[in-house]
This record gives sequence, C-alpha cells and structure tokens, in this order.
Amino acid sequence: MTKKNNKQDCIFCKIAKKQTPVKIVYENDNFLAFLDMNQKTSGHTLIIPKKHFINIIDLPESLGSELLDAIKRVAEIRLKEGAEGFNIMQNNGKFAGQVIMHAHFHLLPRKKGDGHEHYSI
Ligand code: AMP
Ligand code: ZN
Repeated sequence: MTKKNNKQDCIFCKIAKKQTPVKIVYENDNFLAFLDMNQKTSGHTLIIPKKHFINIIDLPESLGSELLDAIKRVAEIRLKEGAEGFNIMQNNGKFAGQVIMHAHFHLLPRKKGDGHEHYSI
C-alpha cells in the first residue's frame, strides 16, 4: 500500500473520526456528509464511508442502502434550500481524477444558468 492509500495518513479517516473539523451536513451509522473545502458549486458536499475504502469497487454492497440514504438526505436538504437539481460525481483512481484515496461521492447542487453545465454528461 502506498502512503496515500494508507488509512493511518488518510485525511478523510481523520474527518470521519471527528479529528479534523468540517461542516457536517448529515450522517448515519456508516456515512458522513460534509462541505467540500473547494466549493465547485454552492453547497458542494462530500459523502464518505466512515470506514476506509479506497474506491467504489472496495465499498461493500451491504452499505448500498445507507449510501443511498445519505445521498438522498443531502440532496433533499439542498433542494429545500433552493437548488433546482444536483449532480453526483465520483472519481475512481488517479487517472479518473481521484485525489483522496478514500471513496467519496461529490454532490453538486445545481441551478438554472449557474454556469456549470460542463458537469452534465
Ligand atoms: P477527488 O478529486 O474526487 O479525490 O476530490 C477530493 C475532494 O476533497 C476535493 O474536492 C477537495 O476539495 C476535497 N477535500 C480535501 N481535503 C478536504 C478537507 N480537509 N475538508 C473538506 N474537503 C476536502
Ligand atoms: Zn480513509
């Protein structure tokens, strides 16, 4: 395992253990949602498993319903705040743009004419 993949040095493990302060948006038993430090759109939120899994392949299927719960709850919060839609983005591997090697899902709230149409496939 490279240092970057090592959970001892993993920033998201520290966030999950509440050792690094973040703005928490939602949490359930196995997932934590918090504001991304680089807000690509207003309300940009990361949803992470509390345990260290490297990417979506590593993430057990048994956590699927809790993951969906966390994504939907964050989306509902953003829609209530006035978002008109949202993108879910998820990078796996450095060649796909994954920088933090702890699985995570980006939730990007969207609004008409927000200038971020490039997030839509
Ligand atoms: P990715 O390119 O998919 O690995 O995205 C990693 C994301 O984590 C980026 O959008 C960063 O802005 C975000 N990030 C990294 N460190 C922190 C942190 N300490 N608190 C909040 N967001 C972070
Ligand atoms: Zn980790």
